[in-house]
Amino acid sequence: MDFELTDAQLKWRDEVRAFIRHNVTPELLHERDKSPEGMLRYGPEGLGFRKKVGRTGWHGLAWPKEYGGMGRGVIEQYILVRELDYAKISPHTVYDMTVTVVAPTIMRYGTEQNKQEFLPAIARGEIRTALGYSEPDAGTDLASLRTRAELDGDEWVINGSKIWNSSAHGSTHQWLLVRTDPQARRHEGISIVMVPMTARGIEVRPLIAWSDYQTNQLFFTDVRVPRGHLIGEVNKGWQYIVGALDLERGGLAETGDLKRELDELIEACRAVRIGDASLIDQPHVGRRLAELDADVEVAQLYGLYGASLLEGGEVPSTTLTASKVYSSELRTKIADFGMQIFGIHGQLSWRDPDAPGRGAMERLYRSAPMNRFGGGTNEVMRDIIAQRGYGMPTYGRSKRN
Ligand SMILES: Cc1cc2nc3c(=O)[nH]c(=O)nc-3n(C[C@H](O)[C@H](O)[C@H](O)COP(=O)(O)OP(=O)(O)OC[C@H]3O[C@@H](n4cnc5c(N)ncnc54)[C@H](O)[C@@H]3O)c2cc1C
Repeated sequence: MDFELTDAQLKWRDEVRAFIRHNVTPELLHERDKSPEGMLRYGPEGLGFRKKVGRTGWHGLAWPKEYGGMGRGVIEQYILVRELDYAKISPHTVYDMTVTVVAPTIMRYGTEQNKQEFLPAIARGEIRTALGYSEPDAGTDLASLRTRAELDGDEWVINGSKIWNSSAHGSTHQWLLVRTDPQARRHEGISIVMVPMTARGIEVRPLIAWSDYQTNQLFFTDVRVPRGHLIGEVNKGWQYIVGALDLERGGLAETGDLKRELDELIEACRAVRIGDASLIDQPHVGRRLAELDADVEVAQLYGLYGASLLEGGEVPSTTLTASKVYSSELRTKIADFGMQIFGIHGQLSWRDPDAPGRGAMERLYRSAPMNRFGGGTNEVMRDIIAQRGYGMPTYGRSKRN
């Protein structure tokens, strides 16, 4: 592939940058900075910004026109997400997996009713889904999930529990993986149901991670949703989410954010003085920053390559999975280096005026591990790359099918 952006793609990048310059207001940045996790989440400014993006039609940027989309390319979508990421406008609020994972899965497998009911509202930015996959006793072994949905007349009745449910406290719906046939083989009795968070019988309990990131445990007690909220066909959910998980990993390779973090580290190294010189003038610091910069460039090219394959109609499982592993581990490398060179000062939080780089490295150090297991742990990702990408033998996990 040609790794240079075309003139049209560069023009699009400038359009996105202009939008960000006009609409990322000091109030929005203040809301982001005062959030304990330093990410823009569900405050009034963040949600207002999401609506503005919705009004541009950009949520449906890469969707076909028949589904209310703009029919533009996946590469343009990649550029949009990268620029939002660079501006530290968290995809969780603005351009989240509702747009990049849920909507494409509905387009591909949903019934006509699913499409009519959910796609236009997603395009307008009105539906925000949390991904309800993980369960307390399942973890990586997702297929052992026990939350069940049983048909009662024209409604599904849901009972069970989901854990590590990241956006439940700010989402309008759950994209919920449920067992619909307990007798079937593990992967064959699973379905996806869209569950409005307003349905009665859902309890949300916050779980705060080391990075101050809020995730949640959810309890479902006799939660009733209309029959038509089942996505696609019953008991086909596993087949649907295999592709959706690949898209999620692609979405998790947040390369704009990585570039921003490295730029912040470089800026902080310029600002920290040792005697007459800046920290960045130390040869070993300058050299390591240059190496990390090259690594970030590779991560961005990886992302672009994945987008170009998606644009060609392929879901490039191995490429997206590898780019998630690469970028999540690079994030840790950047954080580790920041903590090393700032020494004990690196541990000062963003609340401390003396913190180098306004505490960006301390925040990053605590948040980086999450990307290594979010969307599937990197150990398991390597397993998938080995098996799907290089045809290496499977063992253990899949023998239990
Ligand atoms: C902060 C946070 C946010 C999250 N957000 C969401 C969310 O929004 N929605 C959602 O559904 N889930 C979410 N998750 C769940 C996340 O995807 C899981 O943590 C992940 O899938 C791993 O499950 P587990 O933590 O139970 O680890 P386990 O499955 O118990 O794994 C423990 C360790 O064993 C290793 N391991 C397990 N199986 C294998 C194997 N076959 N081969 C090699 N090594 C193996 C793992 O790599 C890991 O190191 C979140 C988790 C956290 C902590």
